[in-house]
Amino acid sequence: MRPFLYEAPTDAASAVALGSVRASAHVTAPAQFKGGGTTLIDLMKLDVMQPTTVIDITTIRDEGMHQIVQTENGLRIGSLVSMAQLQADPSVIRDYPILTESLWQAASQQLRNMARLGGNVLQRTRCSYFRDTSYSQCNKRVPGSGCAALDGVNRGHAVLGVSDHCIALYPGDWAPALVALDAEVEVLGMSGRRSLAFAHLHRLPETTPHIETSLAPGELITAFIISGGPRRRSLYRKIRDRESYAFANASAAVAIDLDGEIVRDVRIGLGGVATIPWRARRAEGMLRGQKLDETSATDAANAEFRDARSRKYNAYKVALGKATMVRALLEAKAMEIS
Ligand SMILES: Cc1cc2nc3c(=O)[nH]c(=O)nc-3n(C[C@H](O)[C@H](O)[C@H](O)COP(=O)(O)OP(=O)(O)OC[C@H]3O[C@@H](n4cnc5c(N)ncnc54)[C@H](O)[C@@H]3O)c2cc1C
Ligand code: SF4
Repeated sequence: MRPFLYEAPTDAASAVALGSVRASAHVTAPAQFKGGGTTLIDLMKLDVMQPTTVIDITTIRDEGMHQIVQTENGLRIGSLVSMAQLQADPSVIRDYPILTESLWQAASQQLRNMARLGGNVLQRTRCSYFRDTSYSQCNKRVPGSGCAALDGVNRGHAVLGVSDHCIALYPGDWAPALVALDAEVEVLGMSGRRSLAFAHLHRLPETTPHIETSLAPGELITAFIISGGPRRRSLYRKIRDRESYAFANASAAVAIDLDGEIVRDVRIGLGGVATIPWRARRAEGMLRGQKLDETSATDAANAEFRDARSRKYNAYKVALGKATMVRALLEAKAMEIS
């Protein structure tokens, strides 16, 4: 591991000042915020990330970054809340199962104790060619170098939102739930506070896969905002190679509002199949106003994956992604809501 300067600011404004200009979530940025460090330190040990300054944000005392607050019509979740803390919150378990189920099925309890929600949404792809610097071709790690995964071992790579420059999977479990709930992200930068739709936080790879988010240099995520009231008829279904401590091969975060068997509203986020947390808007559009059953759910899943582009080893993700979406929808319909 390379030497680096360690900073431990005690307030958010100082962290932003330390990080301005040089800090960003880009892999090559010379300064990086550190939450739990479970992605950052991992990638520094592998020499994939080489920051010269690490700004520890867990020392920030601003209360709002550490709290889960019930608001008039939803939740404000501080970005320094740990995965474990949110996963165990009784009112969130009752009112937003989509949020807590996507957390407890992620990583391991030890990691969830360490990892913070701000860092969680900015976790990096698990693409082996990205994580192993002995491979010279990786546009995300070395812009313009090519993509070894296109014709390499791509079983774990994305089929939605891909480009000819990168097919890396967005691996996280919580972000598909946030995108389904139309969450907003609150950020603090040198020019003040702003909020953006969570759906606009992650960028498609297109020709610049090394630019993963729409955050400006130095911008710090301070909170996640969920509006629109409780979503009790919601869940997260994750399919993986083993039942614990594995990333998703396909996942679906679903929240529905039913009028009898008719879909009044439906929100679907997909994981394990796309380059970004994927909102299945095409499927949602087909289901609204329809009776929800296996036929309508299958039609919607087929439509959502119509533009999927698979490679040699990941074609299974198209069928698995559809089946996971259908199962999640039907299980959400069958939930008994108190
Ligand atoms: C073995 C293993 C298995 C895993 N399995 C899963 C899994 O099954 N599902 C899953 O979803 N995840 C999984 N993960 C990933 C894990 O969830 C993430 O590593 C973790 O959530 C990242 O949070 P952190 O606080 O440690 O982030 P850090 O490592 O501290 O930060 C990650 C990145 O975000 C930036 N950052 C952090 N906080 C902020 C902020 N507030 N504002 C702006 N930038 C910020 C950092 O600069 C860094 O670039 C696994 C990880 C490991 C090591
Ligand atoms: S898929 Fe993306 S991250 Fe993986 S090798 Fe290609 S460019 Fe790099």
